[in-house]
Amino acid sequence: MKSICILLGSSIGSRPEYLLETEKIAKLIVTSNISLVYGGGKLGLMGALADTVLKHGGNVTGIITQELYDRNEAHLKLTNLFIVESMHKRKAMMMDLSDGFIALPGGLGTLEELFEIWNASKLSLHNKPIGLLNTKNYYNKLIQFINYSSRNFFLSDEQKRIIYINKHAKTLLSLMHDHYHLNEEKVK
Ligand code: AMP
Repeated sequence: MKSICILLGSSIGSRPEYLLETEKIAKLIVTSNISLVYGGGKLGLMGALADTVLKHGGNVTGIITQELYDRNEAHLKLTNLFIVESMHKRKAMMMDLSDGFIALPGGLGTLEELFEIWNASKLSLHNKPIGLLNTKNYYNKLIQFINYSSRNFFLSDEQKRIIYINKHAKTLLSLMHDHYHLNEEKVK
């Protein structure tokens, strides 16, 4: 994978681990030679992620809406910053520019992006791996719900399989790498 899109909170969250794990995955991305694609914000975990990748010499592409840019919420020191007119365009561009997606702890925006990207895979708009980094069990209730939905036959095994869940960024990235390469083989 050459680029990964990370979805994460525009807030910092309540536990120090949320920030620590964000910094950890930022460094891992740089050492793995992967470029970061993200929402282009300077606030909360988003800002910390971009700052850490940049500090370690990595490449960061941000995609932000005109509205958020006008509200002075964009990170202005990124390698590339694209300003787009709508959330719809932003997510479409995030999907195009990335070889995989990882959701870190976050709120509504993170969940909305995660579900749109996941549903796009259901609709065969892409076949890229999606990861859920379950820092400090933040996503346990969502994972329970995913399993519940699957047991109730609203979520197929195939749709469930596209999401990789792990507490450790390194393991998560390696699972996603395997999915990506397997998929590449199929395409050849
Ligand atoms: P949330 O999880 O609600 O904090 O929203 C974070 C996600 O939504 C990020 O992945 C961004 O793409 C988007 N987002 C929400 N608020 C902002 C903001 N102030 N600046 C940039 N992106 C944001």
